[in-house]
Amino acid sequence: MAFCPQCGKDAVDVFCEECLRAQTPLVADIKPVVLQHCTTCDRMKVRGSWTQTKDFDRWFQNHFVFAPNAVITHVEFPFPVIEPDAKEFVLPVLIEGTISQRIEPYEEEYEVEVKISREACDRCALAKSTYFEGFLQLRNPKEEVVAYIESTVRKNPDVFITKAEDVRGGIDFWFTDQKYLQPFVHELRKKFGGVVKTQSKLHTYDHQKSKPVYRLTCLIRLPKFNRGDIIETKDRLIKISQMGSRVVGFDLQRRKNSSIDCPTDDEVTILESEEVVISRTQPKSMYLDPDTYQEEPLAHQVTVEPGSTHPIVFDAKGKAWVARKLPDEFKPFTQ
Ligand SMILES: [Zn+2]
Ligand SMILES: [Zn+2]
Repeated sequence: MAFCPQCGKDAVDVFCEECLRAQTPLVADIKPVVLQHCTTCDRMKVRGSWTQTKDFDRWFQNHFVFAPNAVITHVEFPFPVIEPDAKEFVLPVLIEGTISQRIEPYEEEYEVEVKISREACDRCALAKSTYFEGFLQLRNPKEEVVAYIESTVRKNPDVFITKAEDVRGGIDFWFTDQKYLQPFVHELRKKFGGVVKTQSKLHTYDHQKSKPVYRLTCLIRLPKFNRGDIIETKDRLIKISQMGSRVVGFDLQRRKNSSIDCPTDDEVTILESEEVVISRTQPKSMYLDPDTYQEEPLAHQVTVEPGSTHPIVFDAKGKAWVARKLPDEFKPFTQ
């Protein structure tokens, strides 16, 4: 049995275990750790890209230089929680391994100082910039649609509205991504109806990339009518239940659910309904004119309690239609 030249105890590998471990820690060096962190969205830049958690472990471990003979069996550290104002933090690291094949793996503890470099990540920098590639011009705006635009864009991490400007007749949204804008405006039309016009205009010439730069303008003019309105269009009376590129509602003349292509504003008259008493249903359905107290005929037969009150509208020919679906009219949907 050889003896440790340093302390005289039994040697395991020239030295005794204690002296060997004291002389040669598992970690020879730790390179300075500087973590690029975006305060706005709490992402960090690791291995060249902005990420939330992915790849942090491998990137952080790469700062360790292990002793040449070390065999590392396990490295453990918590995922850092970065305080908003912190300039640095300390990460406790547990390293398991051994310096000699003759010694069972053991643990060493380290405390690693991580410096934080505060930066705006690519997305957050874009969101704060005045950069834009296209306009979404919303005309005849409706609150519901404005809220939909803002919440939908917010859900997409790569597209931003860098400015929303009130202009005559509506709102202009400045979009950072024109590839996104074009399909988006058609999605809006499908959902809310209206008329879309798009136009690409030469904006400037990029001399560095030697190519022209275009700005896209997508205009959507929403219909003047809304869900709940009764419209007369192309000889039809529809009480609208759903807006969109197809308008869905109750057809007051056909007395059934129906859908039509969204008409333009000039093809539409919005009708006001008035409450009247239905005086009788046999032999013909009649209502009481609230001004003259005369009985007048309805344009269609109804099955309601005589004396009950119902809303009616008049079509362009002056015919009176009950402006709601009556209990016996819940029929299957047809085109
Ligand atoms: Zn020793
Ligand atoms: Zn960010």
